[in-house]
Amino acid sequence: MVWKTPYFSYTVGELPKGCQMCVRGEKLVLFTTGVCPRNCFYCPLSPWRREDVVYANERSVKRIDDVIEEAALQEALGAGVTGGDPLARLDRTVGYIRLLKERFGERFHIHLYTTGALATENALRKLHDAGLDEIRFHPDLFNPNSRLFNVEIENIKNAFDFDWDIGGEIPSIPGQLDRMKWYAEFLDNLGAKFLNINELEFSETNLRNLLDRGYRPISDESSAIKGSLELGLRLLEWGEENTSLSYHLCTARLKDAVQLRNRLKRMAGKAAKPYMETTEDGTLRFGIAKYGNLDELYRFLVEEAEVPAGWLFINREKGRIEMPEEVAVELAGAVEGDVRFFIVEEYPTWDRLEVERIPLP
Ligand code: SF4
Repeated sequence: MVWKTPYFSYTVGELPKGCQMCVRGEKLVLFTTGVCPRNCFYCPLSPWRREDVVYANERSVKRIDDVIEEAALQEALGAGVTGGDPLARLDRTVGYIRLLKERFGERFHIHLYTTGALATENALRKLHDAGLDEIRFHPDLFNPNSRLFNVEIENIKNAFDFDWDIGGEIPSIPGQLDRMKWYAEFLDNLGAKFLNINELEFSETNLRNLLDRGYRPISDESSAIKGSLELGLRLLEWGEENTSLSYHLCTARLKDAVQLRNRLKRMAGKAAKPYMETTEDGTLRFGIAKYGNLDELYRFLVEEAEVPAGWLFINREKGRIEMPEEVAVELAGAVEGDVRFFIVEEYPTWDRLEVERIPLP
């Protein structure tokens, strides 16, 4: 039976543990390198993410402590290690897995995505010894005559020498049902646990490639590719009849509406200052005042306008004074001159990306 989950995705059997935690926003997304031995036509990575860079969620990692700080801010209970191919920088990836396990304990669940191209017996042993709980392979399935594909397929077999959860993770590419079935049978015969299918999506980077191959979005408002979800569902129905794998069809909507929002909500709880309100979407909402001389404005607000100092915060980096929304609304109606008041909404991420700014009259 194919089930629709409460997260706008579909399953056959049990959801992999990594996915269960991801939809609840409990997983840190740890990008250990953009380097990858492949060049898939559907690769969604932006050019700057294709470099040898490290990110913890949206935070660019400059020192190892950044990873720990980000995981703590999110109150993460696990991590999904991704790239590029994290095995292209094996020692770094193994180092991060060890660090997270040491810092947050054995139960901090870590899963990792890899092409399989570099998954030698030795590399897999290092990952296993570091404490990796779950490994997901994404071989060059739609390019079966390539040398790399054959290497990847041989390497995947090595993973079954270790005690961890093993699965596949591939995009649902319209027209490729037979290849997807082949991979499902291959994994099933080896005794893998699951196969995850991702609804194919446009990104700025893969847009040209996908359009050239005739793929189209389902609507002007969506980045999802027409036919990808339906094909994924056909695979799940077939897989349920013909294999004993679990399946999860992860939709574009799940990633936007559920996974990101839940992660933001977890972070917002920790990041919110007393004058900030946490919204349903996990953003932080508060008022700000802008003026050339922040110290002068602060003195004026406290001494002349009699705003309690505890309600105000001078944010010099962003050149503004922050305050509760209601205070900004009240002051905007009362203060004359060059001071400008706004209500802002920001992501609770390390870079505090602003998503809305409403000027107050
Ligand atoms: S394997 Fe993944 S990261 Fe590498 S090129 Fe393909 S889609 Fe991009």
